[in-house]
Amino acid sequence: MIFQPGSPELQIYRDYATRMGPTQPPPKMPVTTLEELASRYDGFLLDSYGVLNRAEEPIPWAAEGVAWLKSKGKKVRVLTNNAALAEEDNRLLLSSIGIGLEPGDVICSGSLLARERDRLGIRGPVFYMGLASGREYLRAAGLESTDQAEETRVVVLASSRGYRMRRIAEAHRILRQEGSLLVVLNPDAVAPRPQGVMARVSGVTARSLARETGCKVALLGKPFGEIYSHALEKMNLPADRVVAIGDTLATDILGARHAGVDCALVLTGVTPPERAKLEAKSWQIWPHYLLPDLRPGNPV
Ligand SMILES: [Mg+2]
Repeated sequence: MIFQPGSPELQIYRDYATRMGPTQPPPKMPVTTLEELASRYDGFLLDSYGVLNRAEEPIPWAAEGVAWLKSKGKKVRVLTNNAALAEEDNRLLLSSIGIGLEPGDVICSGSLLARERDRLGIRGPVFYMGLASGREYLRAAGLESTDQAEETRVVVLASSRGYRMRRIAEAHRILRQEGSLLVVLNPDAVAPRPQGVMARVSGVTARSLARETGCKVALLGKPFGEIYSHALEKMNLPADRVVAIGDTLATDILGARHAGVDCALVLTGVTPPERAKLEAKSWQIWPHYLLPDLRPGNPV
Protein backbone atom coordinates (compact mmCIF):
# COMPACT_ATOMS: atom_id res chain seq x y z
CA MET A 1 0.00 0.00 0.00
CA ILE A 2 1.55 3.29 -1.02
CA PHE A 3 0.77 6.19 1.30
CA GLN A 4 1.69 9.83 1.16
CA PRO A 5 4.50 10.49 3.65
CA GLY A 6 3.03 12.08 6.78
CA SER A 7 -0.56 11.10 5.88
CA PRO A 8 -2.80 10.06 8.79
CA GLU A 9 -3.36 6.61 7.28
CA LEU A 10 0.37 5.91 7.14
CA GLN A 11 0.75 7.11 10.76
CA ILE A 12 -2.13 4.93 11.92
CA TYR A 13 -0.77 1.73 10.40
CA ARG A 14 2.76 2.56 11.61
CA ASP A 15 1.31 3.01 15.11
CA TYR A 16 -0.38 -0.41 14.96
CA ALA A 17 2.84 -2.03 13.76
CA THR A 18 4.88 -0.33 16.50
CA ARG A 19 2.37 -1.17 19.19
CA MET A 20 2.33 -4.86 18.27
CA GLY A 21 6.01 -5.22 17.49
CA PRO A 22 7.82 -6.70 14.49
CA THR A 23 7.13 -10.19 13.16
CA GLN A 24 9.92 -12.64 12.42
CA PRO A 25 10.47 -13.21 8.72
CA PRO A 26 9.32 -16.70 7.75
CA PRO A 27 11.96 -18.75 5.90
CA LYS A 28 10.77 -18.06 2.33
CA MET A 29 7.40 -16.39 1.66
CA PRO A 30 6.63 -18.63 -1.35
CA VAL A 31 3.97 -17.85 -3.93
CA THR A 32 1.18 -20.36 -3.30
CA THR A 33 -2.25 -21.41 -4.60
CA LEU A 34 -5.56 -22.04 -2.93
CA GLU A 35 -5.13 -25.74 -3.69
CA GLU A 36 -1.81 -25.90 -1.80
CA LEU A 37 -3.32 -24.07 1.14
CA ALA A 38 -6.29 -26.47 1.15
CA SER A 39 -3.88 -29.38 1.41
CA ARG A 40 -2.39 -27.89 4.60
CA TYR A 41 -5.23 -26.19 6.49
CA ASP A 42 -8.79 -26.99 7.62
CA GLY A 43 -9.98 -23.46 8.33
CA PHE A 44 -9.84 -20.31 6.19
CA LEU A 45 -10.23 -16.79 7.55
CA LEU A 46 -10.82 -14.57 4.54
CA ASP A 47 -10.68 -10.81 4.72
CA SER A 48 -13.52 -9.15 2.78
CA TYR A 49 -12.44 -5.87 1.16
CA GLY A 50 -9.60 -6.48 -1.30
CA VAL A 51 -9.97 -10.27 -1.11
CA LEU A 52 -13.64 -10.98 -1.93
CA ASN A 53 -14.99 -7.56 -2.92
CA ARG A 54 -14.39 -3.86 -3.35
CA ALA A 55 -17.63 -2.52 -1.89
CA GLU A 56 -20.32 -3.86 -4.27
CA GLU A 57 -17.84 -5.12 -6.87
CA PRO A 58 -16.74 -8.78 -6.68
CA ILE A 59 -13.04 -9.60 -7.06
CA PRO A 60 -12.36 -12.09 -9.88
CA TRP A 61 -12.17 -15.72 -8.69
CA ALA A 62 -13.39 -14.94 -5.16
CA ALA A 63 -16.80 -16.57 -5.64
CA GLU A 64 -15.26 -19.65 -7.29
CA GLY A 65 -12.55 -19.91 -4.62
CA VAL A 66 -15.01 -19.79 -1.72
CA ALA A 67 -17.32 -22.35 -3.39
CA TRP A 68 -14.37 -24.66 -4.08
CA LEU A 69 -13.08 -24.49 -0.48
CA LYS A 70 -16.56 -25.30 0.81
CA SER A 71 -16.86 -28.21 -1.66
CA LYS A 72 -13.65 -29.58 -0.11
CA GLY A 73 -15.24 -29.49 3.34
CA LYS A 74 -13.14 -26.54 4.59
CA LYS A 75 -14.43 -24.21 7.28
CA VAL A 76 -14.59 -20.80 5.61
CA ARG A 77 -15.24 -17.62 7.56
CA VAL A 78 -15.06 -14.01 6.45
CA LEU A 79 -13.10 -12.00 9.02
CA THR A 80 -13.84 -8.32 8.49
CA ASN A 81 -13.48 -4.96 10.21
CA ASN A 82 -16.48 -3.63 8.26
CA ALA A 83 -18.62 -2.75 11.28
CA ALA A 84 -20.65 -0.34 9.13
CA LEU A 85 -22.84 -3.40 8.49
CA ALA A 86 -24.17 -6.08 10.82
CA GLU A 87 -22.63 -9.52 10.22
CA GLU A 88 -25.75 -10.73 8.43
CA ASP A 89 -25.82 -7.62 6.22
CA ASN A 90 -22.14 -8.16 5.34
CA ARG A 91 -23.11 -11.69 4.34
CA LEU A 92 -26.08 -10.52 2.26
CA LEU A 93 -23.88 -7.97 0.47
CA LEU A 94 -21.37 -10.71 -0.42
CA SER A 95 -24.11 -13.13 -1.43
CA SER A 96 -25.64 -10.48 -3.70
CA ILE A 97 -22.40 -10.41 -5.72
CA GLY A 98 -22.20 -14.18 -6.00
CA ILE A 99 -20.12 -15.17 -2.96
CA GLY A 100 -22.04 -18.03 -1.40
CA LEU A 101 -21.99 -17.89 2.39
CA GLU A 102 -24.22 -19.31 5.12
CA PRO A 103 -25.60 -17.39 8.12
CA GLY A 104 -22.81 -17.22 10.70
CA ASP A 105 -20.01 -17.28 8.10
CA VAL A 106 -19.15 -13.59 8.63
CA ILE A 107 -17.23 -12.66 11.75
CA CYS A 108 -17.03 -8.89 12.16
CA SER A 109 -15.01 -6.78 14.58
CA GLY A 110 -18.29 -5.18 15.69
CA SER A 111 -19.31 -8.40 17.41
CA LEU A 112 -16.38 -7.95 19.82
CA LEU A 113 -18.36 -5.20 21.56
CA ALA A 114 -20.46 -7.86 23.34
CA ARG A 115 -17.35 -9.81 24.26
CA GLU A 116 -15.31 -6.84 25.49
CA ARG A 117 -18.07 -4.72 27.06
CA ASP A 118 -17.43 -5.71 30.68
CA ARG A 119 -13.66 -5.63 30.37
CA LEU A 120 -13.94 -2.09 29.04
CA GLY A 121 -16.29 -1.14 31.88
CA ILE A 122 -19.11 0.02 29.59
CA ARG A 123 -22.45 0.09 31.42
CA GLY A 124 -24.84 2.91 30.68
CA PRO A 125 -26.03 4.19 27.30
CA VAL A 126 -23.46 5.01 24.62
CA PHE A 127 -23.27 7.64 21.88
CA TYR A 128 -23.32 5.75 18.55
CA MET A 129 -21.71 6.83 15.28
CA GLY A 130 -22.36 4.66 12.24
CA LEU A 131 -24.99 3.28 9.90
CA ALA A 132 -28.28 1.87 11.16
CA SER A 133 -27.18 -1.69 10.32
CA GLY A 134 -24.20 -1.47 12.70
CA ARG A 135 -26.53 -0.76 15.64
CA GLU A 136 -26.96 -4.53 15.70
CA TYR A 137 -23.65 -4.68 17.59
CA LEU A 138 -25.07 -2.48 20.36
CA ARG A 139 -28.16 -4.68 20.59
CA ALA A 140 -26.05 -7.85 20.78
CA ALA A 141 -23.99 -6.27 23.57
CA GLY A 142 -27.16 -5.29 25.46
CA LEU A 143 -26.28 -1.58 25.21
CA GLU A 144 -28.72 1.28 24.80
CA SER A 145 -27.76 4.34 22.80
CA THR A 146 -28.38 7.97 23.61
CA ASP A 147 -28.15 11.16 21.56
CA GLN A 148 -27.81 13.28 24.70
CA ALA A 149 -24.13 14.05 25.11
CA GLU A 150 -24.53 14.69 28.86
CA GLU A 151 -25.86 11.16 29.49
CA THR A 152 -22.71 9.25 28.53
CA ARG A 153 -18.93 9.17 28.51
CA VAL A 154 -18.67 6.44 25.89
CA VAL A 155 -18.65 6.92 22.12
CA VAL A 156 -18.95 3.83 19.91
CA LEU A 157 -17.58 4.55 16.44
CA ALA A 158 -18.73 1.85 14.01
CA SER A 159 -17.99 3.48 10.67
CA SER A 160 -17.10 6.66 8.83
CA ARG A 161 -20.58 6.84 7.28
CA GLY A 162 -24.10 7.39 8.61
CA TYR A 163 -23.78 10.74 10.40
CA ARG A 164 -23.17 14.41 9.78
CA MET A 165 -20.33 16.66 10.93
CA ARG A 166 -22.45 17.88 13.83
CA ARG A 167 -22.28 14.46 15.38
CA ILE A 168 -18.49 14.61 15.36
CA ALA A 169 -18.70 17.86 17.33
CA GLU A 170 -21.00 16.17 19.86
CA ALA A 171 -18.59 13.24 20.14
CA HIS A 172 -15.84 15.78 20.88
CA ARG A 173 -17.88 17.21 23.72
CA ILE A 174 -18.34 13.76 25.26
CA LEU A 175 -14.75 12.70 24.82
CA ARG A 176 -13.32 15.83 26.41
CA GLN A 177 -14.80 14.72 29.75
CA GLU A 178 -12.66 13.01 32.39
CA GLY A 179 -12.88 9.21 32.15
CA SER A 180 -14.36 9.13 28.65
CA LEU A 181 -13.78 6.26 26.25
CA LEU A 182 -13.84 5.97 22.45
CA VAL A 183 -14.61 2.42 21.28
CA VAL A 184 -13.61 1.88 17.66
CA LEU A 185 -15.32 -1.05 15.94
CA ASN A 186 -13.37 -0.60 12.70
CA PRO A 187 -9.74 0.46 13.22
CA ASP A 188 -8.98 0.44 9.45
CA ALA A 189 -7.60 3.68 8.03
CA VAL A 190 -8.50 3.04 4.39
CA ALA A 191 -10.82 0.84 2.34
CA PRO A 192 -10.54 0.02 -1.35
CA ARG A 193 -13.52 1.13 -3.42
CA PRO A 194 -14.17 0.24 -7.09
CA GLN A 195 -11.88 1.67 -9.81
CA GLY A 196 -8.83 1.65 -7.55
CA VAL A 197 -10.13 4.45 -5.31
CA MET A 198 -9.01 4.37 -1.67
CA ALA A 199 -11.37 5.90 0.86
CA ARG A 200 -10.33 7.09 4.32
CA VAL A 201 -12.47 5.31 6.92
CA SER A 202 -13.13 5.28 10.65
CA GLY A 203 -9.56 4.68 11.87
CA VAL A 204 -8.78 8.19 10.62
CA THR A 205 -11.81 9.70 12.39
CA ALA A 206 -10.82 7.86 15.58
CA ARG A 207 -7.27 9.14 15.44
CA SER A 208 -8.31 12.76 15.13
CA LEU A 209 -10.94 12.45 17.88
CA ALA A 210 -8.37 10.87 20.20
CA ARG A 211 -5.69 13.43 19.47
CA GLU A 212 -8.00 16.39 19.84
CA THR A 213 -9.68 15.24 23.08
CA GLY A 214 -7.05 13.12 24.85
CA CYS A 215 -9.68 10.40 25.53
CA LYS A 216 -8.92 6.72 26.12
CA VAL A 217 -9.34 4.58 23.01
CA ALA A 218 -10.27 0.90 22.64
CA LEU A 219 -9.55 -0.48 19.18
CA LEU A 220 -11.45 -3.68 18.37
CA GLY A 221 -10.75 -5.74 15.25
CA LYS A 222 -7.77 -6.67 13.12
CA PRO A 223 -4.81 -6.44 13.81
CA PHE A 224 -5.56 -6.72 17.55
CA GLY A 225 -5.70 -10.10 19.21
CA GLU A 226 -9.30 -10.42 20.45
CA ILE A 227 -10.81 -10.96 17.01
CA TYR A 228 -8.53 -13.93 16.37
CA SER A 229 -9.38 -15.64 19.69
CA HIS A 230 -13.05 -14.99 18.93
CA ALA A 231 -12.80 -16.42 15.37
CA LEU A 232 -10.84 -19.51 16.42
CA GLU A 233 -13.41 -20.23 19.15
CA LYS A 234 -16.26 -19.82 16.66
CA MET A 235 -14.54 -22.13 14.15
CA ASN A 236 -13.65 -24.59 16.87
CA LEU A 237 -10.19 -25.12 15.38
CA PRO A 238 -6.71 -24.70 16.87
CA ALA A 239 -4.63 -21.85 15.44
CA ASP A 240 -2.26 -24.22 13.62
CA ARG A 241 -5.10 -25.67 11.48
CA VAL A 242 -6.13 -22.25 10.17
CA VAL A 243 -4.79 -19.89 7.52
CA ALA A 244 -5.75 -16.22 7.26
CA ILE A 245 -5.89 -14.58 3.83
CA GLY A 246 -5.83 -10.80 3.57
CA ASP A 247 -4.61 -7.90 1.44
CA THR A 248 -3.35 -5.48 4.10
CA LEU A 249 -0.01 -6.06 5.82
CA ALA A 250 -0.68 -3.79 8.80
CA THR A 251 -4.03 -5.39 9.70
CA ASP A 252 -4.59 -8.88 8.23
CA ILE A 253 -0.99 -10.06 8.22
CA LEU A 254 0.27 -8.28 11.34
CA GLY A 255 -2.73 -9.55 13.32
CA ALA A 256 -2.51 -13.15 12.11
CA ARG A 257 1.22 -13.33 12.80
CA HIS A 258 0.78 -12.12 16.38
CA ALA A 259 -2.16 -14.49 16.90
CA GLY A 260 -0.06 -17.46 15.81
CA VAL A 261 -2.16 -18.04 12.69
CA ASP A 262 -0.37 -18.72 9.40
CA CYS A 263 -1.22 -16.16 6.75
CA ALA A 264 -1.17 -15.40 3.05
CA LEU A 265 -0.97 -11.92 1.56
CA VAL A 266 -3.36 -11.89 -1.39
CA LEU A 267 -2.40 -9.65 -4.29
CA THR A 268 -5.86 -8.57 -5.46
CA GLY A 269 -6.25 -5.71 -2.98
CA VAL A 270 -4.18 -2.84 -1.64
CA THR A 271 -0.80 -4.54 -2.04
CA PRO A 272 0.16 -4.77 -5.74
CA PRO A 273 2.00 -7.97 -6.82
CA GLU A 274 5.14 -6.17 -7.96
CA ARG A 275 5.54 -4.45 -4.58
CA ALA A 276 4.59 -7.25 -2.19
CA LYS A 277 8.10 -8.29 -1.11
CA LEU A 278 9.30 -4.70 -0.94
CA GLU A 279 6.33 -3.70 1.19
CA ALA A 280 6.77 -6.66 3.58
CA LYS A 281 10.36 -5.62 4.06
CA SER A 282 9.58 -1.95 4.50
CA TRP A 283 6.84 -2.65 7.09
CA GLN A 284 8.78 -5.57 8.67
CA ILE A 285 5.53 -7.54 8.49
CA TRP A 286 6.05 -10.88 6.84
CA PRO A 287 3.28 -13.17 5.53
CA HIS A 288 3.96 -16.91 5.32
CA TYR A 289 2.79 -16.97 1.70
CA LEU A 290 1.98 -14.74 -1.25
CA LEU A 291 -1.28 -15.66 -2.99
CA PRO A 292 -1.96 -14.11 -6.41
CA ASP A 293 -5.75 -14.64 -6.17
CA LEU A 294 -8.44 -17.09 -5.00
CA ARG A 295 -8.46 -19.11 -8.23
CA PRO A 296 -9.45 -22.65 -7.18
CA GLY A 297 -7.31 -25.72 -7.92
CA ASN A 298 -10.03 -27.50 -9.84
CA PRO A 299 -12.67 -24.99 -10.90
CA VAL A 300 -16.18 -25.93 -9.78
MG1 LIG B 1 -8.84 -5.82 3.06
